[in-house]
Amino acid sequence: MFSVDTYAGGRVQVRREALTGIASRISPERLRRNLSMPYPGSPPGDCPFCPGRVERETPTFADGARIHLGESVTFPNLYPYADWHLVTVITRAHAVERFTVDQVADALAGLLEGVKRRGGYVSLNWNYLPSAGASIPHPHLQGIADPRPTTLQGRYLTGSRAYYREHGHSYWADFVEEETATDRFLFEDVIPWFASAVPVGEREVRGVLPATSPAGIGPCIRPLARGILRVIECYRTLGTRAFNMALYCGTTDDASSFSAICSIIARLNPNPASMTDSAFMERLHFEPVVMTLPEEFGRYFRESGC
Ligand SMILES: [Zn+2]
Repeated sequence: MFSVDTYAGGRVQVRREALTGIASRISPERLRRNLSMPYPGSPPGDCPFCPGRVERETPTFADGARIHLGESVTFPNLYPYADWHLVTVITRAHAVERFTVDQVADALAGLLEGVKRRGGYVSLNWNYLPSAGASIPHPHLQGIADPRPTTLQGRYLTGSRAYYREHGHSYWADFVEEETATDRFLFEDVIPWFASAVPVGEREVRGVLPATSPAGIGPCIRPLARGILRVIECYRTLGTRAFNMALYCGTTDDASSFSAICSIIARLNPNPASMTDSAFMERLHFEPVVMTLPEEFGRYFRESGC
């Protein structure tokens, strides 16, 4: 009834329902995180991503190092839910009023350098604030690379290949041309940005990169950072600060048919009780991350007398 792929040395299962293709990621280790902390979460002195602790308490790559670029620090996620799952702490500051282009560009570039070490199907992602699913308030990005794409990434790659076969050119070239002539066009700064016609979240904005795979998007990093900041500044004028972002990459085999897409959605502002288990994977990859193995829950149910 379902298939299982095991990643990260058996620490992560990706299960796919045969009937629908719906996928679910199970990472039991993530239960060990303290998810009950109230907003604004750990004070700076109690934050593993703050200077002084990030160098001591986060994992390193196999060579014993982390990637440092500008203020950013990139390292493997202690609680992965992908085969290759990295975290990039964006700033030295625990709370940031407004990010600079340098801060976001350095963090994206550091994360990109890290995910390229593994390859496969890559995405760069950001949950900003606990109400967008960030379990640690200190601003950070997450990069994942798996042997298979995530659900939504896979649908776009498959659809784009089919479109290319049928039309002989890229869907995304047609998409940019058509959308630029609509009220959904926002601005172009190397990357054209649009309000998504079929939004998967509040005020979804999509940027279409002039590149496909991680190897090609390096030169787009700075305009990407500028574009993200411009969008979240607009969200701020509309009253929301929390957001999710995902940048879906293709592989070099997708170069003719697919352009990397950056999707950003607005989320509700944090409040004292704010914490959600719906983050970039659920909202922007259509793939839930859960912590409890169904078999463990079954055993608990039967043995607890519930
Ligand atoms: Zn911190």
